[in-house]
Formats: sequence, C-alpha cells, structure tokens
Amino acid sequence: MIRVLISGHRVDWDEYGELLSAALTDAGIDAEVIHETRPRSPETIDYIVYAPWSDMKDFSPFTGAKAVINLWAGVEGVVTNETLKVPLARMVDPGLTGGMVEWCVAHALRHHLGIDRDICRRDAVWDPHLPPLARERPLTILGFGVLGQAVAEALSGLGFPVTGWSRSAKDVAGVTCLSGEDGLVAALRRAELLILLLPLTPATEEIMNSERLALLPKGAILINPGRGPLIDDNALLAALDSGHIAHATLDVFREEPLPGDHPFWAHPGITVTPHIASGTRPDTAVEIIVENIRRGEAGEPLLHLVDRSLGY
Ligand code: NAP
Repeated sequence: MIRVLISGHRVDWDEYGELLSAALTDAGIDAEVIHETRPRSPETIDYIVYAPWSDMKDFSPFTGAKAVINLWAGVEGVVTNETLKVPLARMVDPGLTGGMVEWCVAHALRHHLGIDRDICRRDAVWDPHLPPLARERPLTILGFGVLGQAVAEALSGLGFPVTGWSRSAKDVAGVTCLSGEDGLVAALRRAELLILLLPLTPATEEIMNSERLALLPKGAILINPGRGPLIDDNALLAALDSGHIAHATLDVFREEPLPGDHPFWAHPGITVTPHIASGTRPDTAVEIIVENIRRGEAGEPLLHLVDRSLGY
C-alpha cells in the first residue's frame, strides 16, 4: 500500500480527500490518503499532493517521497524550496483550462465590444454604436503554454488575429507564433488586446515595465490572469493615467487579497477580480493526480514536470 499526503488546509482535504481515494481505488492503486498537518512517520509518505497555501515548507522529513504534485498550475510558491529534492509536477487540468478560456474570452469580448457602455447606461440616451469585428482587433497572448494556447484557439476561432509569444519557438496553426526579445517587441506593438498568461519566474517578473507598456498601441487593453508581479504596478498606473492604456482587467496581484487601500481598487481604468480567473477543479484534477501516481509506481516519467532551473 502506498501513502498519499494531501498537504493543505482543511478545505483541500474536504474537496480532494474522498474523490482522490475513490479515483485511486478505481485505478487499482492500493493507497491510503491522509491529511495531517504534521503526519506521523513522514518517511513512509510516497506522494505529496501540495496546495500552495500549505503551511508545510520543509520537505526534508519525507525521505521516502517519490514526487510532489502541485494542485495549482503556478509553482512559484514551491519551485525554489531547497528542501524539495524530488520531482515536482504542476497541475494541468482540463477543468482549469476550460475555466481560463471562458474567463479570458469573456473579458476580451467585454472590452472588444465595449459592453460597459451599454450595460452601465441608466441615462435614457439612445446611443447606437458599431463595434469592430474580431478580425479587426489584433490580440496578443504572452505565455503560450497550456493555457495561452487554449485561450488562443478560442479567440482565433472567434476571428481575432492572435499572436502568441513564448520562450521557445512554436508553430501553431492559425496563430502567429513569436519568441525571443525581438518577438516580444513585435507582439506588443500589435497588441490592441494583451493577455498575460506567463508563469512568474525571475525572467518574467515585471516583464510589463514602462518601456514595454509604451510599445502597446495607444488605447490598448491589458488583461492579466497570469501573476501580479508580471506587471510594474506604478508603470501601469502611469500608463492608464496618461491614456496610453485604456483599461486593465487584473485577476492577480503582488499581494493577495489586494489590500483595501491599494490604488487599483478605486482606479476607473482598472477592473479587479479576486484571483478567480480559473481554479483547479477537483473532479478533473484527481484524474491527473492519479495518472501521475500510476506513472510514478510504474517507473514511467511523470506528466507536467516542472523544470526547476527555469522556474516553471
Ligand atoms: P505553461 O504551460 O508552463 O506555459 C507557460 C508559457 O509561458 C510557455 O509558453 C512558456 O514558454 C512561457 N514562458 C515562460 N517563461 C518565459 C519567458 N521568460 N519568456 C517567454 N515566455 C516564457 O503554464 P500554463 O499552464 O499555461 O499557466 C500559465 C500561468 O497561468 C501559471 O504559471 C499561473 O501563473 C497562471 N494561472 C493563473 C490562474 C488564475 O486563476 N489567475 C489559474 C491558472 C494559472 P515555452 O512554451 O517556451 O516553455
């Protein structure tokens, strides 16, 4: 029998405990799933399912662990932990991907169609306006991985000319794929709508600084469901105040919850959403966790391994 520790708060155990036990049984894996803040006999734990808000920061007692399976797509909270010596897998979950696609499409269309203009209207003014078609609105996605590509597919399906930018060169049908510094400049220059779906790493922190914000076309819209520190907050506020950026919809922040006195809350050019762009969905995520445990037990490579030298 293997032992699987869910390391997180009570809520994680409530959501995942029963589902994970059942999915392991269905997969024919004889396992005990436990949730203890300080588990007895930590050296006997085989797999750690890790929630980023877990209080556990020292992996060294888990001398028999074969892998840590992160419950979130983003791993910046665990990837630099020096006590972690075993492979780290991140979450790629169809439910999470679907949620991100829906959130990004909704917020892109809100700005593209100027929906606020109509739904906020209470002044009895009949003010017809013809929004452009999607095909007339170039859209760029920085971070062209699992989530970026899924969002690109949905938005290019609606007609947006989509450019995706990533570290390594890619070739994806129907999308302009760019990489490298030159690629970034070109991707930003055309981005009337810009979506950030990069992981937070030393290489991406404050990637959207004042110089890069200035590359965007005047009146651009910025949508950030990636991570807060991808943006230099003060540079963004200055770009909004000057009118260079028309609006920013931000789901993630340097500090979460976003402090009540933070200028983002009151700024008319900013929409704050409380890190809800997408979450891991327990029913689909347990299938991924179980598949990785099965692979670990069979001596096969795990899915979605994090490259710790790159930080994602
Ligand atoms: P992923 O599959 O690892 O994709 C990351 C993408 O970013 C890849 O295309 C990667 O390039 C690119 N990238 C990384 N570092 C780069 C750099 N220095 N320069 C250029 N491109 C770089 O990750 P994912 O699953 O799509 O998730 C992306 C992020 O979304 C997560 O890390 C997390 O922060 C965020 N997220 C937010 C929420 C939310 O609710 N707000 C939910 C889930 C995830 P390569 O393709 O060349 O590797």
